[in-house]
Amino acid sequence: MSVYQVPYTGLPRQAAGIKKELLAAFEKVVDSGHYILGPNLKAFEERFAAFCGSRFALGVANGTSALQLVWKVRGAGPGDEVITAPNSFLASASSIATTGAKPVFVDIGPDLNIAPELIEKAITPRTKGIVPVHLTGRPARMPEINSIAEKHGLFVLEDAAQAVGASLDGKRVGSWGNAAGFSLHPLKNLFVYGDGGVITTSDPDLREKLLQARNHGLRSREQCDFWSDNSRLDELQAALLLVHMEALDGWTARRRELAHRYNDLLSPFVEVPLEGPGEYCVYQTYVIQAEDRDGLQSFLQSNGVEALIHYRTPIHLQPAAASLGYTVSDFPKTVRACSRILSLPLFPAMTALQQDIVVSLIRDFHEKRPESRMEPVTAS
Ligand SMILES: *Cc1c(COP(=O)(O)O)cnc(C)c1O
Repeated sequence: MSVYQVPYTGLPRQAAGIKKELLAAFEKVVDSGHYILGPNLKAFEERFAAFCGSRFALGVANGTSALQLVWKVRGAGPGDEVITAPNSFLASASSIATTGAKPVFVDIGPDLNIAPELIEKAITPRTKGIVPVHLTGRPARMPEINSIAEKHGLFVLEDAAQAVGASLDGKRVGSWGNAAGFSLHPLKNLFVYGDGGVITTSDPDLREKLLQARNHGLRSREQCDFWSDNSRLDELQAALLLVHMEALDGWTARRRELAHRYNDLLSPFVEVPLEGPGEYCVYQTYVIQAEDRDGLQSFLQSNGVEALIHYRTPIHLQPAAASLGYTVSDFPKTVRACSRILSLPLFPAMTALQQDIVVSLIRDFHEKRPESRMEPVTAS
């Protein structure tokens, strides 16, 4: 038994609703004898590409590998720079750095995503591309980012790991950039029972190279054109994903319903993530901002609510980034956000009662401490 009355997530309950279908799919794969690069993967890839509005999708081993493989086939390496946001999961930057290229960070806007108006200042003759991250399931400002990329001849790789199904102006993430990487980690909105990832692209040449890159650089059983990784998505996971794809719209609708209800109930006490014009957010994380974030987190925790921080330390201040030479004063918006953000429990199987518990605790915390209540914010 968890000590939490309201856990951060509830995967077994979410799977319970489709367990019969999952077990049937599992049995079919086991009986088929075909476990790698087979018909389930192909069916999932077609389904996922259509879902994103992209021409192609490729299943890979995880979300980090999805991003890495794209940079690998694009030839990013020592001497190259790639621009991304410092408030993200590490992999947005590590997938650049592990090619030998240098991650170059740009501060964020009020949506917690990369601020397009700051990108051009960071472009140098060595800049190879831009990685906008759709953090929390909220789409980055892609029209502006794409036009900067076009002007400077840069490749755009969306880090869509947290944002399957999110869209901007009716166009889904995964269809905006030259390519996109998705994660199927169990905490992501579309997930597998282990690790998995997907790449989308509408570029047939890029797709051909990526098909080889995920499979040892092999062109055929006999011919290896370049050294590469083994980064494939299993048939078993693909078969289970096909079941999840049927449920995904319902899961997303429930996440949005919970998020909007949180927004209504919490806005007098904390800063809530209001959607901007044209944005359709999918809330992989539901992130509020509070003055006394650490106090609020401990209060929730001591009352049985598991709230987490994504992420306390921005990437540019990680020990791994020390050689890049950034300091705490480089990205003030990011550093400020990192001290205020708190991810509340929000998952498709969450009950209204669980949500009411979270809301009433946050209300209690602020009503007992009027000094930490937010100034009212005006919509920007
Ligand atoms: C989860 C995540 C990744 C990495 O995905 P994995 O499947 O865990 O390798 C990359 N970027 C972001 C923003 C993520 O949230």
